[in-house]
Amino acid sequence: MTLESTQKIYDTIIIGGGPGGVAGGVYSARKRLRTALVTDTFGGQSSVSDDIQNWIGTVSISGIDFGKALKKHLEAYAGDVVDIREGEKVTKIEKQGEFFIVTTNKSSYETRTVLVTTGSYRRKLDVVGAEKFENKGITYCASCDAPMFAGKDVVVIGGGNAGFESAAQLLAHAKSVTLLNRSDVFRADPVTVKKVLSNPRMKAITNAVPVEIKGEKFVNAIIYENKETGEKVELPVSGVFVEIGLLPTTYFVKDLIKLNSLGQIPVDPKTQKTEVDGIWAAGDCTDGLYHQNNIAAGDAVKALEDIYKYLKTK
Ligand SMILES: Cc1cc2nc3c(=O)[nH]c(=O)nc-3n(C[C@H](O)[C@H](O)[C@H](O)COP(=O)(O)OP(=O)(O)OC[C@H]3O[C@@H](n4cnc5c(N)ncnc54)[C@H](O)[C@@H]3O)c2cc1C
Repeated sequence: MTLESTQKIYDTIIIGGGPGGVAGGVYSARKRLRTALVTDTFGGQSSVSDDIQNWIGTVSISGIDFGKALKKHLEAYAGDVVDIREGEKVTKIEKQGEFFIVTTNKSSYETRTVLVTTGSYRRKLDVVGAEKFENKGITYCASCDAPMFAGKDVVVIGGGNAGFESAAQLLAHAKSVTLLNRSDVFRADPVTVKKVLSNPRMKAITNAVPVEIKGEKFVNAIIYENKETGEKVELPVSGVFVEIGLLPTTYFVKDLIKLNSLGQIPVDPKTQKTEVDGIWAAGDCTDGLYHQNNIAAGDAVKALEDIYKYLKTK
């Protein structure tokens, strides 16, 4: 591991290569701030989406092309001011005097300010059998694994947008898809719910709480409890696709910033400033009320404007 601080002190380090991080990077380049953008990959969470239809200015784009477009946009303006550190994962941020040391799995960097845009990751299913059958019928990525379940009966757990999107992807391959939703209300957009449920091979069961995944070598059934009656029902299935929400990726700042009860980074919504002088955060890792691609990008732009102002007055 090398400490790059001996060579360079950055004005800002942006962590994350999703819409938030890349928006921050493009603005930072245009303001000619000495920047490092550190990310393990480009594109962020919606990279797994088949079709993103609400990225403003783009009618429709696949998640993979979305990631490529973000990277290309950043590279086009990075010039000699933004160092792109792809394939690096930040493990720690520490305050040292008036600077911050950002440590990754490969190196360490010194910087005057930090913008955190590390988004979130999928919550794991916590029921009997869930760990045992992970990757043996239980999966967290429909777009990656759906073709392996061609002609099979599968279940999706979760009634948010991600659950219904997964169901839509699975319907292209599976014999049948059953979506289990904990409550009697779906959190997904009504237009998506209506479209997915109109498929005759699709079924949704509400008030259904998963309690056990069964199988031999691979999953062969799921047991859920009807929340209203207490009745336990066993469904024979070959695949279980889990979409039960997201957890913010904030583990590397928890010793520096007081996180909220959900593990999110609290920010001032006017500026995206955190409680720590010199650190900003944007997008899904924050306590912002709404989380979407356009919002993450807008938050990061706001943060960059404020970082620029902060650096100029220091
Ligand atoms: C399946 C799915 C479909 C979606 N579809 C849509 C949609 O159609 N439209 C829409 O507006 N929103 C959609 N969303 C929501 C949207 O993806 C998020 O709101 C958005 O990605 C948030 O952007 P972000 O930049 O805050 O974080 P993310 O997009 O999550 O990006 C985080 C970035 O940080 C990097 N990273 C994480 N940890 C580290 C670390 N320790 N070190 C270095 N880098 C790290 C990641 O590699 C990634 O590049 C969808 C979400 C999901 C899960």
